[in-house]
Amino acid sequence: MNNHCLSFKNFFMYYFLLSMLFVNLAFAQERMKPEETEVWEPEPRLVFPGVLNSPPSDAEILFDGTNFSKWRHESTKGEVQWTLNPDKTMTVKPRMGSIETINEHGSIQLHLEWKSPTILKGEGQGRGNSGIIFQRRYEVQILDSYNNRTYSNGQASAIYKQHIPLVNAVRPTGEWQIYDIVFNEPQFDTDGKMTKPGNFTVFLNGVLVQNNVELLGTTEYIGKPKTGRDEMPGSNKSTPSHRSLLLQDHGDLVSYRNIWMRKL
Ligand code: MG
Repeated sequence: MNNHCLSFKNFFMYYFLLSMLFVNLAFAQERMKPEETEVWEPEPRLVFPGVLNSPPSDAEILFDGTNFSKWRHESTKGEVQWTLNPDKTMTVKPRMGSIETINEHGSIQLHLEWKSPTILKGEGQGRGNSGIIFQRRYEVQILDSYNNRTYSNGQASAIYKQHIPLVNAVRPTGEWQIYDIVFNEPQFDTDGKMTKPGNFTVFLNGVLVQNNVELLGTTEYIGKPKTGRDEMPGSNKSTPSHRSLLLQDHGDLVSYRNIWMRKL
């Protein structure tokens, strides 16, 4: 018998063995019971959803319209200077300063409702500007983007100067707008170097506008995002690097109501 003949025989032997293997795998698959791919633990805990936009049972209420107990002035750390309205809403008091939560936050789901001022003033970035700044670093833009063109990565529901919203889902000026936002915080090593970027998923009025977009770093008005753990947006180095939720005073009469979050 020559070598050629031997390899030919070997080929058939391997082919046969391989076929048997696949046949066995196919039978093994068939022999599996449906229960074998069921996963029972952990059992998701029971949460009672809110009615319409009221908070679910496990939410932390940040603003229910009755007081500013969870908030303070962002630079003086003193009392909030904004207006608390009788209809359980609050309104920015222009140039009295942004406000921040007293507590810091990590990865969260946030629900927040906002309304642009009905008296039209200014254009582009000058009309109904405010913003939600997560961990005082990453801004989801609030702007009256109804019939008000500006740069796309700066309109309402943009991750400011990083991600353009998929669509413009704003309601007309003066109507309440609803944000539901998932924020996953970035991860850092012990030296403060980013090891995993954060990300945002944003719904505006029930419409998906940011689909798991990756944060490039701090959201900057001028220049590139900064990625270090201890970096803050802008050049204000005197601001302590407190990782709280901040609502921006951009000089416009933007109103807020019904703000709650769930820790992730
Ligand atoms: Mg803003």
